[in-house]
Amino acid sequence: MAAVGAIDIGGTKIAVGVVDESGRVLARRECPTDASRGYEDALARMCAMLRDAVQRGKQSIDGIGIGSTGPVDPFTGVIGKLDFLPGWEGSPLVDDLAREFGLAVAMENDGDAAALGEAGWGAGRDKANLAYVTVGTGIGVGIIADGKLYRGAGGAHPEIGHHVIDCTGPLCSCGAHGCWESLATGPAMAQWLSSNAPPDYPHLDGLTGKRICELARQGDAPARRAVEREARYLGIGVANLVTLFIPDTIVLGGSVMHSADLFLDTIRDTVRRHCGYVPFEKTVVALASLGPDANLIGAARVWHHRFAPDGPRK
Ligand SMILES: [Zn+2]
Repeated sequence: MAAVGAIDIGGTKIAVGVVDESGRVLARRECPTDASRGYEDALARMCAMLRDAVQRGKQSIDGIGIGSTGPVDPFTGVIGKLDFLPGWEGSPLVDDLAREFGLAVAMENDGDAAALGEAGWGAGRDKANLAYVTVGTGIGVGIIADGKLYRGAGGAHPEIGHHVIDCTGPLCSCGAHGCWESLATGPAMAQWLSSNAPPDYPHLDGLTGKRICELARQGDAPARRAVEREARYLGIGVANLVTLFIPDTIVLGGSVMHSADLFLDTIRDTVRRHCGYVPFEKTVVALASLGPDANLIGAARVWHHRFAPDGPRK
C-alpha cells in the first residue's frame, strides 16, 4: 500500500501533505486559505501543493482524503454554505480533484476527519467506539460507532457542541441559550471573565482562554474562577457524552486542551458524579495524541475509512 494525499481546509489556512500507511506525514505544505480569491484559485493552489508534496515525499499516492471546515456533503463531495468561504458553496471539490489526479477522493467535515485520525492512528487506536471533542474557538465532536463514522439523516454531521448545558446561559448563533459551545470555548472563558472580574482587574485587555490559563497558574484568583467554571462545563458536556453513548474512549483535543492539566481532574470527577446509570468507568477520557498535524493525518484517514475500511494494516 502506498501513501495517501491529505488536504486540511481551515478558515485561515490550507494544509496539504502525504501521509503513509502508519499515519506518518512524509511531506507537507501549507498556504493561507485566502477564501476571497475564490474556489478556483484555491483549487489550483491545492493541486500545486499536493504535486509538490508527492515529489518531496518520494512516495506515490493511492488516493486523496480531505477534511474541510464547515458543512460538506460526504456523498456528493460538494462544499456547503459557510460564511468564511464566500462563493465556495456548491463547489465539487471531490470531483475536481479526482479528475485532476485520476484518483479516488473522499471528503468529510474536519471534526469527523480528526475523529477518524485519532481512532485509526491516535489515542483511540483499536477502539470501536470513540468520541473526539475539539475545544478551541468552537466545540466540534466527531463520533465513531463500531469503527465507522456516525452520520445523521442524509449524512448530516451532528452538532454536539451545540447541545444545551444551561438553558439560562448566553444566546448562541445556533438559536439556543447555553449550549456547550457558548459556555466552554476559549472565547467563552474570556467573555465570562471580562463580565465578572473586579472593576480594577488589570488583565482585561486582549484576554484569551490561553492567557486566562497562564494567569490561573500564577495564582490569579479571578482567572482561577474562570478556569474552574471552564472545567465544570467541559465536565458536564463530557459526562453527557458518556451517559448518551458510553464510548470506549473520549479523546479531547483543540487549543484549550493545551492546558488540559487544569481541567482533567474536574472533568473526570464530573463524569463520576453525573453518570450513575451507565458503566462510566469503561470510558477512557484521553488527550489527542497526533499533535499539530492531527487534522492533516485525519484527512488522510478519511480516504482509508471510505476506500479501505478494514484499515491499512490488515
Ligand atoms: Zn449553539
